[in-house]
Amino acid sequence: MVLVDTSHPGNIGAAARAMKTMGLADLRLVRPARFPAAEATARASGADGVLAGARVCASLDEALQDCGCAIATSARSRTLAWPELTPGAAAAKLLEGAQEATSAVVFGPERSGLSNAELDRCEAMLRIPTDPDYSSLNVAAAVQIVGYELRLACAAAQVPTAAADEQPARLEDMQRFYAALEQILVEIDFLDPANPRLLLRRLRRLFNRARPSDVELNILRGILTAIARQGEKARAFRERNPL
Ligand code: SAH
Repeated sequence: MVLVDTSHPGNIGAAARAMKTMGLADLRLVRPARFPAAEATARASGADGVLAGARVCASLDEALQDCGCAIATSARSRTLAWPELTPGAAAAKLLEGAQEATSAVVFGPERSGLSNAELDRCEAMLRIPTDPDYSSLNVAAAVQIVGYELRLACAAAQVPTAAADEQPARLEDMQRFYAALEQILVEIDFLDPANPRLLLRRLRRLFNRARPSDVELNILRGILTAIARQGEKARAFRERNPL
């Protein structure tokens, strides 16, 4: 968990406590206003070990240096620029990423939240659903909820369910699929390569929500291959029958 520009040391302590209850220990603090602080230790209760191990960093880049998957949290919906995940979907993505490198969740300052530049450093945004008229949780409460979702996701990954014979598609396979999809969409003139960004983001968001299994992804890949084959047939036909 990465806390950026936290102004109240009490919140750092409460976040450490929230983490410990969920079995998490890697806490990174980017430019905390005051740390270490007696108030942080007091609010950590029995979780002072997490505080003692916390790494203070000068920038978000430094905190994320060894991280693969990084997900930002925000109380507000932003633009489509950042795919928005539910806590559950984010937890699944973080766990998957954790197989290859450290995964990170980034929390913003109490007053302003994360800047757009900080959100840009992350691959997706997690928003905890709330009452739309009052969406801003205390930062340590947000840490608690995300930690809980991670714990649930871990438990689900360890206890195979009836559908467990179909593994969720691997992230890199999804990336390859997106690249192939983009190529086909350009080829069939559905996507303007000069201005592709919004459509592709929307499609990624759709597939992220669906979280296809490896079997389902194979079907999707098969469809792309079939479309490509039709395109080749049409090209060959045109070549044989020039107008
Ligand atoms: N006014 C700020 C709120 C900051 S609350 C804003 O509009 O973004 C401090 C931090 O707690 C946020 O930066 C975020 O990391 C976390 N947080 C608070 N409410 C959240 C929510 N509903 N979903 C996800 N994170 C939330």
